[in-house]
Amino acid sequence: MNRYLESVLEKTKAKNPNEPEFIQAVTEVLTSLEPVIAAHDDYEPLAFLERIVEPERMITFRVPWVDDKGQVQVNRGYRVQYSSLIGPYKGGLRFHPSVNQSIMKFLGFEQIFKNALSGLPIGGAKGGCDFDPKGKSDNEVMRFCQSFMTELYRHIGPDVDVPAGDIGVGAREIGYLFGQYKRIRNGYEGGVLTGKAISYGGSLARKEATGYGLIYYMREMLKANNNQTLKGKTVTISGSGNVALYACEKAQQYGAKVVAMSDSNGCIYDKNGIDLELMKQIKEVERGRVKDYLREHKNAEYMETVDRDDAPIWTIPTDIALPCATQNELSLTSATKLVNNGVLAVGEGANMPTEAEAIEYLQKNDVLFAPAKAANAGGVSTSAIEMSQNSMRYYYSFEEVDARLDRIMTNIFKSCEEAAEKYDCAGNYAAGANIAAFRVIAKAMRAQGIV
Ligand code: NDP
Repeated sequence: MNRYLESVLEKTKAKNPNEPEFIQAVTEVLTSLEPVIAAHDDYEPLAFLERIVEPERMITFRVPWVDDKGQVQVNRGYRVQYSSLIGPYKGGLRFHPSVNQSIMKFLGFEQIFKNALSGLPIGGAKGGCDFDPKGKSDNEVMRFCQSFMTELYRHIGPDVDVPAGDIGVGAREIGYLFGQYKRIRNGYEGGVLTGKAISYGGSLARKEATGYGLIYYMREMLKANNNQTLKGKTVTISGSGNVALYACEKAQQYGAKVVAMSDSNGCIYDKNGIDLELMKQIKEVERGRVKDYLREHKNAEYMETVDRDDAPIWTIPTDIALPCATQNELSLTSATKLVNNGVLAVGEGANMPTEAEAIEYLQKNDVLFAPAKAANAGGVSTSAIEMSQNSMRYYYSFEEVDARLDRIMTNIFKSCEEAAEKYDCAGNYAAGANIAAFRVIAKAMRAQGIV
């Protein structure tokens, strides 16, 4: 590896012990930048890489709240304001018990590159809390969100930092967070959060955007490789949350057959094709488990997850696999099974869902690989479109937003493809995404001086 890259990576590892996800994300990006670093000798004296791996600001805070039994609970909240080089800090909030500093930093770091790829003026950030909304009453979730925002509000604003949803943060949570922000600020700053409901300043097609965008990217990748299409392809999708449900919807619209979806307990395999309306009812309305699908489709199969390294969903034969649940959910063991079953393409809907060794294995076996920071950028891109509608005090139609999203995803694919070709790694869209994004960031860094 290039000496400068190696020394930055070593220093980053030493400075951030016990942060495996963060180191995994940094390693993946830095190693793929080798040809760009070699071509520019001013990056090292200007400490480009040292500056990009260090967040501009990290905030952690206490979130006390009272549960329905009257007991006081205390959680830990985070906001990592990673980079404001090309726009206000922008990135989602995750509420999940696994949230910690390493996960926040990996997500914030990835977000800088993703947002740069979108071609829109948004910086990178991420936040969240180790709070688990699962099994909590609406009132508990509301009290928690109010306490979380009572601290977060002082760090955010429509031109400063604009959070959105992520795992465990959907329309309900965004509503409670926005209500509390507005109350504290005594003003209607619609653009402070995205993912809002349509009734108070949200954007049509934001809910669908990440999943739809993933399929638009997949469509372009298939087209660029022997003019293939989604029609008639078998698809498996892990997760059954926001990203997974709308990836399923768009894949079905393109004539693909989605045969499996999952949650953290297990997966449903329906050879006749997933009944999406039922899955939405279970997940969006009832907040139930995928297993509940069996109540109406007795011939479908339920496979419980016993070992996350060998998740049952990846043992099912498929043409296209879409990991849309969480980080490191697709292991080398699973990748081997996918390849043995003849998988054609893998598209990351979740952030960093594929382990590093699994990516390498898939690429060695000529599986087309769509990397998260490009393939799932549709969500944040549509969030930026929501921000512009809020600034204009105007609404675009669903069709207008969807057409913009489609154009953005098509352009992102082209940027990844061109960067990979230019830097001698044609077909490696993961490297292409990192290189294309880094070039945007590097230009802004050079222009703004040492900050
Ligand atoms: P949701 O909370 O709507 O859904 C998450 C899904 O993933 C659920 O089915 C959940 O199952 C499953 N899941 C979560 N944690 C685990 C785990 N440890 N093991 C197995 N399954 C798990 O989240 P989203 O759909 O919004 O987000 C999914 C992924 O997409 C995340 O990686 C997120 O960062 C990424 N993403 C989301 C964007 C968005 O716009 N929402 C934008 C870009 C990326 P269960 O109910 O059992 O927990």
